[in-house]
Amino acid sequence: MTREQIIHDIQAFFNLRELVCPHVYAKWGEQSWQFLDTAYLHTILVLRRDILRVPLVCNTKTLTQRGFRCNMCELVKEKRSVYVSAHMLGKGGDFTSSEMSAEKMRNEIKKQSGKLPYPVRIEGGVSWLHIDVIPQYGVHSKVYEFKA
Ligand SMILES: [Zn+2]
Ligand SMILES: [Zn+2]
Repeated sequence: MTREQIIHDIQAFFNLRELVCPHVYAKWGEQSWQFLDTAYLHTILVLRRDILRVPLVCNTKTLTQRGFRCNMCELVKEKRSVYVSAHMLGKGGDFTSSEMSAEKMRNEIKKQSGKLPYPVRIEGGVSWLHIDVIPQYGVHSKVYEFKA
């Protein structure tokens, strides 16, 4: 799939405002797609449409740091030591569903990993699904579960 097709198709499932923080959307509007990695967008499209097939929510009115995070986002601003995360690279996000627990989502991702277009990292043991496409150096599994 081309990046253009991915961005077209993904809008059936996600709003751009959900995928970036309000700071970024306020400044760049629809141009904010530019900060989201193609592999990440392709991955969450396949995740939503072909793997989990339940509604997924990233940012809400009150939770605004679950997608792309900029330097004005509190979680980033408050850091006093080095911090680089998939959220700041446009390569990851946090998702929840009213129809599926995070644990079930993680299990389905492992079970259906063959459908994923890229290897992913997921965070284990949390009540949301963190998924990103940072290519882990030295890791060769399609689904790599890490604990923060
Ligand atoms: Zn921000
Ligand atoms: Zn996360």
